Amino acid sequence: MTKTEQIASLYSQFVIPTYASPSRALVKGKGTRVWDAEGHVYLDFIAGIAVSNVGHCHPKVVAAIRDQAGTLMHVSNLFYTELQGRLAEKLSALSLKGKCFFCNSGAEANEALIKLARLHGHARKRTEIISMTGSFHGRTLAALAATGQSKHQAGFEPMPKGFVHAPYNDLEAVRALVTDKTAAILVEAVQGEGGVIPADPAFLQGIRALCTERDILMLCDEVQCGLGRTGHWFGYQAAGIEPDAFSLAKALGSGLPIGAIVTSPRVADVFQPGKHGSTFGGNPVCVAASLAMLAVIEEENLVARASVAGARFQAGLQALVGNYEHVKAVRGAGLMLGLVLDQPAKPLVETLCGMGLISLATAESVVRFLPPLTVKDTEIDEALEIIEDAVAEWHGVARPQDEEG
Ligand SMILES: *Cc1c(COP(=O)(O)O)cnc(C)c1O
Repeated sequence: MTKTEQIASLYSQFVIPTYASPSRALVKGKGTRVWDAEGHVYLDFIAGIAVSNVGHCHPKVVAAIRDQAGTLMHVSNLFYTELQGRLAEKLSALSLKGKCFFCNSGAEANEALIKLARLHGHARKRTEIISMTGSFHGRTLAALAATGQSKHQAGFEPMPKGFVHAPYNDLEAVRALVTDKTAAILVEAVQGEGGVIPADPAFLQGIRALCTERDILMLCDEVQCGLGRTGHWFGYQAAGIEPDAFSLAKALGSGLPIGAIVTSPRVADVFQPGKHGSTFGGNPVCVAASLAMLAVIEEENLVARASVAGARFQAGLQALVGNYEHVKAVRGAGLMLGLVLDQPAKPLVETLCGMGLISLATAESVVRFLPPLTVKDTEIDEALEIIEDAVAEWHGVARPQDEEG
């Protein structure tokens, strides 16, 4: 039995199979690369699903975690910790200039946004949230109710009440759903799980105007597209607007579990003592990792780098579109890119993995790429070589340049 088979056997006996059985076990990561239990190396072009934005095991993040773990690993939120205050200050300064609440995951951050909207609308009996079809907001029940994909809800009905869905990028459809019961409109600036679909700037601007006009909260789910990935600190900034609050998780802890909501001053004090909470929220070790990660993004200028690296990667992917019949388009923003196929993406993703490149199949026919923002040009070029080899193999043809040479 190989090491991988031994691990797979443990999973098949003891781990609830919420994920399809992987064929590899990972044991180590550094920068853009990860190693499996059999000693193979991969370019991790999903960064642990938009988590390892500063690469795997960045030395400054590792040092901050080690330090804090040996100083104070946990305290209850019945006490202050300086680090939590400093992280809230930093996130606020980068965005809405209000306040933050810390939790442990993306779903939990969206639950907090939903509770904030309900509490804010409560006195006026405004309870309903409008979210978008194709959206993904997490697996807890209210986040699932907000999620606009019925495949994730199937079997868990009845869904919590108070959620309606409008087609993404269709402002008139959103407007048509607004009633005097509407508490908030929740939207991703780039839909990730939905197939790497950016919002039209005019769509976000239109929602902002509609929310202001009707006194509704505009909420953004920045769990996947936030923290530099799109070439902006936060995805909504591309549209030049500000939501009333937004959620973060994934990249926020650089690999440790932490989520947050960030609010504007207007709704910063909607939650009063006793109205919400979390045992681990703002855990000092996770917060130390977050602060170190944010410092790395600033020191290494990674927000701007995401645009430049993304443009290079996107251009390389775009070159496949004309040359291979089943590759239809490239879309996304910064280092959040999707290769749109006219067939299921899973077989190509598996081929890519066998060739040493990790990607993700999304929305059936999209190959999603989310490399670390620290990805080097040489690594992008290496990935593009692998992608073209895999795409050619998947089409059952030789690469055009191979024929010429
Ligand atoms: C991943 C994701 C979530 C859920 O985050 P978890 O930490 O898995 O709960 C929510 N919203 C978006 C946009 C996501 O990509």
